[in-house]
Amino acid sequence: MKFMNRFNWIGQQQDDEDSNDIYLLCKNELPNRIRCSHIYKKNTYVDDTCPVCGAYAAVDIYKDRKLDSSLNENGLHRLFFERVPKVYKEMDTSIWSSLGGSAWKSADANEQVFLAFCMAFAEVSGALTKSESDYWDVALAAEARVRAYLVDRKIHIVKQPGFDLALIADGMLAGRQIRSLRAHYGISLCGTIFETHSRAEIDRKYQKAVKIAERLAILGCSSRDNLPYFSAANHLAA
Ligand SMILES: [Zn+2]
Repeated sequence: MKFMNRFNWIGQQQDDEDSNDIYLLCKNELPNRIRCSHIYKKNTYVDDTCPVCGAYAAVDIYKDRKLDSSLNENGLHRLFFERVPKVYKEMDTSIWSSLGGSAWKSADANEQVFLAFCMAFAEVSGALTKSESDYWDVALAAEARVRAYLVDRKIHIVKQPGFDLALIADGMLAGRQIRSLRAHYGISLCGTIFETHSRAEIDRKYQKAVKIAERLAILGCSSRDNLPYFSAANHLAA
């Protein structure tokens, strides 16, 4: 997984471990102005000084992450993997699977982004990609399928000034911004995937779905779409 920065990635490694070991990250700035960044176990060296640079300028990476209460990509990832299988298990899937039309039709701008994320997650391939360009080919192909679905149903996503991960989290928690029908339909789309795909495939699908949802939010989606990988006019003509 590629995360926003290496500290978030490290934070997740720590979180997944069952042991109570605490790890420190050395933030000492070296003469070349680069941070030392060595990671070492607490209570291993005298006064917890860094064995590489000899300074004590380390932070407890687990605590550091906990203090940051704002939702980042790492937090959403954890929430998604916890919530989807749990909520899905308690759902009557025969009801929700038929409610796509009503969910989209009654969705406001925030809910459209949430639904776009869920649909992208269900649509995008979870296969391993060999290169950056492979990766984007797969992501854009899925984005084109989402656009085709929306254009067919005359659903218009208005261009949005930004993309807020908290919206996705809100839907996962059946929170305040994403109303129940939209939240449950979206989770039902994602839950099916959890039953039929490996953890690695789910991870790859999730990662691409975040990027696709961001693109749909920022670029919008309408019957005037004319993108290198999707032309609404050509799609409707076909
Ligand atoms: Zn150091």
